Amino acid sequence: LSERLQKALSGLRRKGKVSEQDVRDTMREIRLALLEADVNFGVVKDFVKNVREKALGAEVLDSLTPAQQIIKIVNDELTKTMGEAAVPLNKSAHIPTVIMMVGLQGAGKTTTVGKLSKYLMDNEKARPLLIAADVYRPAAIDQLKVIGDQLNVPVFDMGTDTDPVEIVRQGLAQAALQKNDYVLIDTAGRLQIDEQLMTELANIKDLAHPDEILLVVDSMTGQAATDVAKGFNERLDITGVVLTKLDGDTRGGAALSIRAVTGKPIKFVGQGEKMDALDVFYPDRMANRILGMGDMMTLIDKAQKNYDEKQAQEVADKIKENTFDFNDFIDQMDQVSNMGSMDEIMKMIPGFANNPAMKNFHVDPKDIAHQKAIVYSMTPQERENPDLLNPSRRRRISAGSGVPIVKVNQMIKQFNQAKKMMNQMYKGNFSGMEGMMGN
Ligand code: GDP
Ligand code: MG
Repeated sequence: LSERLQKALSGLRRKGKVSEQDVRDTMREIRLALLEADVNFGVVKDFVKNVREKALGAEVLDSLTPAQQIIKIVNDELTKTMGEAAVPLNKSAHIPTVIMMVGLQGAGKTTTVGKLSKYLMDNEKARPLLIAADVYRPAAIDQLKVIGDQLNVPVFDMGTDTDPVEIVRQGLAQAALQKNDYVLIDTAGRLQIDEQLMTELANIKDLAHPDEILLVVDSMTGQAATDVAKGFNERLDITGVVLTKLDGDTRGGAALSIRAVTGKPIKFVGQGEKMDALDVFYPDRMANRILGMGDMMTLIDKAQKNYDEKQAQEVADKIKENTFDFNDFIDQMDQVSNMGSMDEIMKMIPGFANNPAMKNFHVDPKDIAHQKAIVYSMTPQERENPDLLNPSRRRRISAGSGVPIVKVNQMIKQFNQAKKMMNQMYKGNFSGMEGMMGN
């Protein structure tokens, strides 16, 4: 999803003004991007329609930065489709709150039962009881017991020979005796939706009257995830969704369509195998993830506040033409120091946020002072034409600025790297930057 979408958006980013035709072309790209990511067709259609209507509004076409506005509209619309705000767990008026975990085999039900009980213990000092109602494989019960031991949470099980509904009945009785405030029921799954399983789950539901029926969905399963969500919801009227395995290389296209197709909120996301790898679902963060944009929105907001648009355009042109020189460098440093620290800002740029090379990238305020001193010791010709800076000129600059020659060389090298990198970024090419970042 994101690669395609980023391409569509970076096409826009390159332009100052956007025409109606641009909007139409971009929307076609966004539509294809979403479809390619297996987002449900109906969802894509509505989504694109909403974005197009908003993007074609006069405010966008007349604004100074239409490309940024369109990016924002796409982002806002993604957020809206996924439900705007985080939705908390339903709670029962009297204990226990009963949470039933359902989903296909391997989706992450058992793991999520463990994670959620840890979450409840950490955040509410809860005393949960786990019920092992997956009786089809002995290993499933053992898996839950291991998790229970690890978290120091009691697990109720009756082996594999008892009917799951009966297990749940007795488990609930035990929870009542021991005054557990939460009961989490781990159920069986199948490789696909299957009538026998649905009947069993419906029977457990009728007995337990769960406050939450959480459908656990593997985010890596693409379009299938939507169908699964639809099937489970129609049969069991689920109350929420947990989207797992977001630590994998999925862009979360499933989040977009599940909410739209079922109308049920995604409540948590699983981001790893460990017990603490469960997070509350935030639609706006997921929108950013789908767009692959880091904190692009924050950056745009900051930039809009602090930048003179016209000047920004001039700089952009210089970057594009590769004529960015030391005078611009000094200007930019002054601008940027109004926005926050350099590394903070760099980390907000898409492609940098998750770039391993960024880990070693720090800009010290002292370095900025040095760098300014170096530039001020250059002649106007040198500032405009960095290629003039041969060794003897560099020695003169070092003496004039009081900055050691090593630092002068380093600074010029970094300048050239940054220039090249900005030019690359301007072309929407975020790859292959690792090699350019080192010293
Ligand atoms: P169940 O069949 O639905 O009960 O699924 P399990 O809880 O047994 O999980 C199946 C596999 O997926 C296990 O190996 C889990 O460790 C793994 N798993 C579950 N959730 C996540 C997640 O959020 N991230 C990753 N990386 N693995 C997960
Ligand atoms: Mg399981």
